[in-house]
Amino acid sequence: MIPLFKVAVDPGAGPLVAEALRTGVLGHGPRGEEFEEALRARLGTPHLVTLNNGTSALHLALRLAAGPEPGGEVLTTPLTFEATNWAILANGLRIRWVDVDPGTLNVDLDDLAKKISPATRAVMVVHWAGHPVDLDRLSAILDDAEAAYGFRPAVVEDCAQAWGTTHGGRPLGTHGNFCAFSFHATKHLACGTGGMLVVPDEESLRRALRLRFFGIDRRADRVNGDYDVPEWGYNFYLGELSAAVGLANLANVDGRVERHRRNAAYFDAELAGVPGLELTERAEGHSFWLYPVKVADRPAFIRKMTAAGVTVSAVVRRNDTHTSVRDAFTSALPALDAVHDRVVHIPVGWWLSERDRAHIVGAIRSGW
Ligand SMILES: *Cc1c(COP(=O)(O)O)cnc(C)c1O
Repeated sequence: MIPLFKVAVDPGAGPLVAEALRTGVLGHGPRGEEFEEALRARLGTPHLVTLNNGTSALHLALRLAAGPEPGGEVLTTPLTFEATNWAILANGLRIRWVDVDPGTLNVDLDDLAKKISPATRAVMVVHWAGHPVDLDRLSAILDDAEAAYGFRPAVVEDCAQAWGTTHGGRPLGTHGNFCAFSFHATKHLACGTGGMLVVPDEESLRRALRLRFFGIDRRADRVNGDYDVPEWGYNFYLGELSAAVGLANLANVDGRVERHRRNAAYFDAELAGVPGLELTERAEGHSFWLYPVKVADRPAFIRKMTAAGVTVSAVVRRNDTHTSVRDAFTSALPALDAVHDRVVHIPVGWWLSERDRAHIVGAIRSGW
């Protein structure tokens, strides 16, 4: 089977992990520090912290963005991995579903603009599959909200699938919002489990550095017990073994993302006009962690591709219909209703050979 996901492990990871094991530094240590510094250099901002996973990054982002008091709403998309939305509930906030743009599969910014109200504490956007949300447009919407209501809801970007994605020529994480990245095994940049939160300012960085470790300043004098916790926090630290893998994988991640992009360009050319299949819209800077398409008769498509040895998947189910939330948070979402059952993802990653790509195109073109 041609896989939909494959875990990249750079050869440099082995020696770094072995070194950590040899020295017995497995909690917090030099590889974690080095990884964090490397990420700061890469994104060109000191305002970021590494964390134990992307879900923690979302959780901490909302805590920083919305403040510790419970209550209030977060506008969000239902077409995402559940981590995005359960982080809202974990912070004691309410979900307000926003419809999906069927062209991009990202949140529909028109619907989002309409749903901003005095109850809105934050806005969550997901760059699904690596497709950048139009952050300029979002910023203009928030300008209008600020003019209308006298406050500006914070923006949290779920960049879990969007390492390497740019908007306006700049990497995600540099547009003044709270940006959560995942370094889960299958993501573009893999630690195994790991994550990162980029924050907009120095004050948020100071809080994030403390809150990822119970609210304690790591440099505090714990020997003499001479320290204070001004604000309680979590155990969201990234471990040394994960940091070692991430550090090694950073060396070649750009090349892998480039291969995703080249494979996507190939599919764009080869799959245009195939009956029963619709491509998503394109945007400058897309990193194509996934390659979603919209198909007629998805069950038949999945059966056909599986029989042809190609792993394809819906990847997620709309979150708003899960039993745990469906009665508490309801919104009419006509665009999502119309597109949801047609979305499926085909392999696009660095591991595809030219033969694999041609095989995938041939299987699709022969119909389902
Ligand atoms: C992977 C993913 C996450 C969660 O990241 P973890 O590192 O697994 O906690 C969150 N949101 C989206 C959209 C994801 O794809």
